[in-house]
Amino acid sequence: MTVLAADWTWDGARFVSGVRVAIDAQGDIEAVGPEAGAGRPVTALAGRALLPGFVNAHSHAFQRGLRGRGERFPAGAGSFWTWREAMYALVDALTEDELRRLASQAFREMLAAGITTVGEFHYVHHGSADWSLDRALIEAAADTGIRLVLLQVYYRTGGIGRPLEPAQRRFDGRSPEVFWRRMDELQGELDPARCTLGCAPHSIRAVPIDELAELFAEARRRELVVHAHVEETRREIEECVAATGRRPLELLLERLDLDEGFTAVHGTHTTADDLARLAERGATLCLCPTTEGNLGDGLPRLAPGLTAPVALGSDSNARISMLEEMRWAEYGQRLVHEARGVLTEAGGVLGRRLLGMATEGGARALGVAAGRIAPGHRADLVEIDLGAAELDGWTPETLPEALALGAGERVIAGVRVGGRRPPR
Ligand SMILES: [Zn+2]
Repeated sequence: MTVLAADWTWDGARFVSGVRVAIDAQGDIEAVGPEAGAGRPVTALAGRALLPGFVNAHSHAFQRGLRGRGERFPAGAGSFWTWREAMYALVDALTEDELRRLASQAFREMLAAGITTVGEFHYVHHGSADWSLDRALIEAAADTGIRLVLLQVYYRTGGIGRPLEPAQRRFDGRSPEVFWRRMDELQGELDPARCTLGCAPHSIRAVPIDELAELFAEARRRELVVHAHVEETRREIEECVAATGRRPLELLLERLDLDEGFTAVHGTHTTADDLARLAERGATLCLCPTTEGNLGDGLPRLAPGLTAPVALGSDSNARISMLEEMRWAEYGQRLVHEARGVLTEAGGVLGRRLLGMATEGGARALGVAAGRIAPGHRADLVEIDLGAAELDGWTPETLPEALALGAGERVIAGVRVGGRRPPR
């Protein structure tokens, strides 16, 4: 059992001093307060602020292997679709060992960036044997010590009504029956204290709508969260409208009983009305600002003061920094609206909203009891070095904005996942 006492502790709304965090033997937070863990030895974290570990709600770890690649454009301007060709070339050469290596690299960088939970949207399943890459990914998470929510992807078509392309065969979910059998196997293999499952029908272009509706209903019956890519590119919307007369999210809202267990990833070209309808269902929107910028996908236009649940993801892992995702979530909206302070809470508070997206918002999307320093939550924590030059001049009131807008990974002094330091 551990009792931590940092100079300042984030309570979800503000930094407070004189607070201790008591962690039980299972790695959960037992108590928080001035007297928490009374009678036990206290580990003083001098010069540190304690935040909930960041939750990365959307990652494709293997794409870490593309960093610095696909960034030359001899044939003229590229797009998501030209980038996808480079990504498929990486997939083609991906072995179990290579996935384990790339995922371990990505997960270590995440831990160094203060990320303690990753939602891994995992779609490259088949290697030397069917589903053999699933195991490599789970091992990479266990080896590095990050908490994993394995968002097991179902992928069936190479576009609406089109068969899989040869490059997509390693993604094949086969059928809903085979997919759920695989989910049952995975459930039996995982350590539920460190790794849980979610269901991820890839997108409207990769899953027929009838199967998507069936997967969603079964996943929610099992109380699993459901994530899907939604309206990342204009072409996806055009093809869906041509085939069905509906935009992708419009179709999902019509056919699925979307609820708080659903997360729409991107929503880059989603209409304001559809975003509002998504929010009415209690569903989460997951933004991946650095990846959307890298791919040139565009920017959503979010309503100023939007109160709907929002999570953040590092997606392609071209850069791994939750601080930067927070910053660019807001900066992207500033550039769209030509105004400052778009992603604010009531009273115009910015930092709390951005920190909330990187912690509670992600935890909600992934269905994990993390993202808060409160009893009953996992003791997933990140320590901030208050002596870091980048934060010089901070006050308890300005620290959220100083972190979200002004800081980089040098301020991250370490993390705990389930109360434990990850192995080095
Ligand atoms: Zn993605």
